[in-house]
Amino acid sequence: MPVIDAHVHVLSNFAPMAPWEDLGRVDRLLHHMDECDVDKAVVLPVVADYSPGNNQECAQWGREHPDRLAVLTDVPMHQQDAAERVLRTGEEFGAVGTSYYPPKLDEKMQWMLEEACDALWQAYKDTGLVCNLQIGPSNYGILLELAQRHPEIRFVANHLALPALVGGPDAQDETYGGLLQAAACPNLSIKASGFYAAAATSWDFRCPQALGFFSRLLKGLGADRLLWGSDWPPVGRHVTYRQSLEIIRTFAAELDEGDRAKVLGENAARVYGI
Ligand SMILES: [Zn+2]
Repeated sequence: MPVIDAHVHVLSNFAPMAPWEDLGRVDRLLHHMDECDVDKAVVLPVVADYSPGNNQECAQWGREHPDRLAVLTDVPMHQQDAAERVLRTGEEFGAVGTSYYPPKLDEKMQWMLEEACDALWQAYKDTGLVCNLQIGPSNYGILLELAQRHPEIRFVANHLALPALVGGPDAQDETYGGLLQAAACPNLSIKASGFYAAAATSWDFRCPQALGFFSRLLKGLGADRLLWGSDWPPVGRHVTYRQSLEIIRTFAAELDEGDRAKVLGENAARVYGI
């Protein structure tokens, strides 16, 4: 059974981690993975002012460690050339999917449903690339609509779909802010990652609030639809790499052995084709 970390970043200089900017080095990641028996990781580039070449860097690390790292390409989907970028990304970066961080998380991404995006969605269908999104409660409806309209495209949402953002569900909400309608969309997966951001106390890797969100998603969507990820290195400000894994491996009590294997790696292998 492979253990796959579905969400890491690799940067030699990750400025927001100051004064520990070099925590995201690839040698450190591989060391954590070795120590914790993690077979592979999916790398999401961070393309920012302090790291303009991170798509290229991550692609290079992916080529150097093909058995350990699979890479996505950061594609700014709101830009006009997004469809062309998607079409190029497999060849240019060896990527298995794209990653999108919208400039403003709380803004409605209605534009994704408009005709101007037809070519973009066609590019995903033509390439078979996974569409990985940073998407929160204000856009659950958009995400559901996309998954329904494009059953051929595999969508993955980061970090429990960011329930702690403004307008998000509380852990008692049985609909998870409406997101559990995705039970009918097998092409939509959610990462069981970024627990610290959903926790009442970010340092507590057994935080009942964060585990409560996981539990809702598990009950509503089933174990086939959840992918464990660490969100390393940012997670390192809150808990250790090993603790980010043990949230699922040890403390997600309602998972039986087969379902645990799915969440820890089998689902990521299937969804990303790695
Ligand atoms: Zn992240």
